[in-house]
Amino acid sequence: MSMAIDVALAGNPNSGKTTLFNKLTGARQHVGNYPGVTVEKKEGRCRHNNTTLTITDLPGTYSLTAFTEEEVVARDFLINTKPRVVNITDASNLERNLYLTLQLLEIEVPVIIALNMIDVAKQRGIQIDAKELSRQLGVPVVPIIARSGQGNAELLDEAIKNAENKQGPAISLSYGEDIDLALNEMEVVIKENQVMTGTYPARWIALKYLENDQQIIDKCKSENSLSDEQLQKIAARVEKHLQATLGTTPEAIIADYRYGYIKSLLHNKIITHQYDPNRLYVSDKIDTVMTSRIVGPMIMLAILFGLYKFTFTFSEVPIGWFESFFSFLSDSANILLPDGYLKSLIVSGIIGGVGGVLGFVPIIAFMFFGIAVLEDSGYLARVAYMMDRILRVFGLHGSSVMSYIVSGGIAGGCAVPGVMAARTLRSKNERLATILTTPFMNCGAKLPVLALLIAAFFETGQSQMMFALTLIAWLGAVLVAKFLRMTIVKGESTPFVMELPPYRMPTLQGLLIHTWERTWQYVKKAGTVILAISVLIWTMMTFPELPAHQKQTFENQRQELLASYPSSVHNEVEKGGATQQLSPEALQLYGALRSIDNMEAEKALKNSVAGRLGTSLEVVSKYAGFDWRTNIALVGGFAAKEIIISTLGTAYSLGEVDTENTGSLAKTLAKAPGWNKVVGLALILFVMFYAPCFVTVVCIAKETGSWKWGLFSMAFNTFFASTIAITVYQVGTMLYGIQ
Ligand code: GDP
Ligand code: MG
Repeated sequence: MSMAIDVALAGNPNSGKTTLFNKLTGARQHVGNYPGVTVEKKEGRCRHNNTTLTITDLPGTYSLTAFTEEEVVARDFLINTKPRVVNITDASNLERNLYLTLQLLEIEVPVIIALNMIDVAKQRGIQIDAKELSRQLGVPVVPIIARSGQGNAELLDEAIKNAENKQGPAISLSYGEDIDLALNEMEVVIKENQVMTGTYPARWIALKYLENDQQIIDKCKSENSLSDEQLQKIAARVEKHLQATLGTTPEAIIADYRYGYIKSLLHNKIITHQYDPNRLYVSDKIDTVMTSRIVGPMIMLAILFGLYKFTFTFSEVPIGWFESFFSFLSDSANILLPDGYLKSLIVSGIIGGVGGVLGFVPIIAFMFFGIAVLEDSGYLARVAYMMDRILRVFGLHGSSVMSYIVSGGIAGGCAVPGVMAARTLRSKNERLATILTTPFMNCGAKLPVLALLIAAFFETGQSQMMFALTLIAWLGAVLVAKFLRMTIVKGESTPFVMELPPYRMPTLQGLLIHTWERTWQYVKKAGTVILAISVLIWTMMTFPELPAHQKQTFENQRQELLASYPSSVHNEVEKGGATQQLSPEALQLYGALRSIDNMEAEKALKNSVAGRLGTSLEVVSKYAGFDWRTNIALVGGFAAKEIIISTLGTAYSLGEVDTENTGSLAKTLAKAPGWNKVVGLALILFVMFYAPCFVTVVCIAKETGSWKWGLFSMAFNTFFASTIAITVYQVGTMLYGIQ
């Protein structure tokens, strides 16, 4: 008896669909377009065991959402035609490929998984247990090599088997309690009112509402607007709840759970890495040196130092480009825009904010590139292996050392890439403890602040002092990590996998893709939030403005001053500023005008929200010896630690102080009343340990998936730093009797 069945090939781009399609259909192909859209439709025929198969090569997609025409076409075709679905997956990249598979299973079409490119997988030492995968997912899995045709006959056998069955096995993933409960609730509504239940599975429709799938929502609306309203309501409620609790959308959570499911599925027992004995032999030989007791750690330090140097040296060039570009922008804005708040907002708030976001991009990109090299070459596993014994004592993981180094473990890194570097840690608890303690390292922005305070109060032994502060940072980080692991981040440590993967040459393409993906994620995920907070901080430091009569007082002073000089001197000052050779009189006028400006700036800062906050914080900060000026600077330091310097400069009426040139500020502080060695030390320790800058906070929130941890780091670190600073100040003043 002869039969005819429809088969659709579905898969990610580059999974080998076209290759398989051509192998199966040979010359019997027809290329056209899907009705109404420009997406190409390829159809061909093939005969196998008395059956005629009409094969459609669906457009390659990673997903079945409604974001692209291709995805909608693929999904509509599956729903309308009800074909047997051959899902081609790239076996060397199974984790990513199974994402589509899960979505195929969710629309309950009959799926056969073609495990393609097993030759490539084998070459890479990846072994996949097809039987187990088939058992777990409840669908046939056939290993093939599309290019050579190996396995094609078995694949067609499976496609023909039970061809009358138009329905695949139902799969019902859990998406976490919030979403699961909503899905159940929505399923009831959908089933009771029979909203498109003839076409789609009810749970799938519910899922699409949560994923905000406009195509499905519109369809439901036109069919049954009452149910649509009910469903929309539930979806909106879940969205609001998730935004409030996790700061993310249902779509993102659904995607996370899908990936999580795949990960745990594969890594239980389906994928094993098998190594070429030759390679292992070479690797073993290399490891006798690389992981030996004494030379190993030395090489490791050198390599980590290299990573650090690589990240921060090479990123300097593109950072320079960004900086010139943004200073060009703000210069232009300065010239083109009239004076006033709009200008200040654009220059300081927006251009500064965007510049701030993008300024981190080169560092992050270089850091991830460096880490990708270590990771892909297999060396990262050695680092973890060597450091694990020490760091385990503190509830951390061997790989935590990377985060610490990148964020300033050798003095002068950045906590933003440091927090992101913790991605190499697999265990949730150790990763969290690492992320939360990483900001304790002395990043490049804290360094000038520490250097300023050291210069002001510890003039002798500056380099020893800096070294001591680096050690203190490490000590603080590991002790706090231990504390967190014993209290808030409790849980077993993951046993370290002793099996070390063989060394291999990373491919440039692989490295670049890794780097690009991770860097782009930073821009996309953190960018907008960072910009918004930057504007907020600008507002806090600018408003409310000085009352008109106070401004007038300063203006009057300026006018009085000008009146006491002849107009020739005015002109000279106006034309030349401080840069040109000025006559002694003009220089005097210029200096006097600047000092009025600086005094006005100091008053304005004290009057702003940030200034008032700083003043009211004196209630507590006086126990650490900090007055309102220091407090404002610390509030400003939340924008970026180096801002502590410029804000201190303004608060001490010194005008703009830049980080390269802090000599006059150091002298001022050394002489200023209320300052001494003990206050200096208390402030140094406070700056090292208090709330991370907000960019880091945003990254902590994004990387942990919860604002809770971002806020926790702000509150906890500030509390911790206050405790230290107050203790140092109180004990110090007692011992030395300085008041
Ligand atoms: P499509 O985008 O899914 O249509 O993928 P293609 O059929 O164009 O295949 C992408 C690339 O993978 C091509 O270079 C193919 O030659 C190659 N390819 C496909 N199947 C296999 C296979 O089983 N083994 C190997 N080594 N390469 C394959
Ligand atoms: Mg193709």
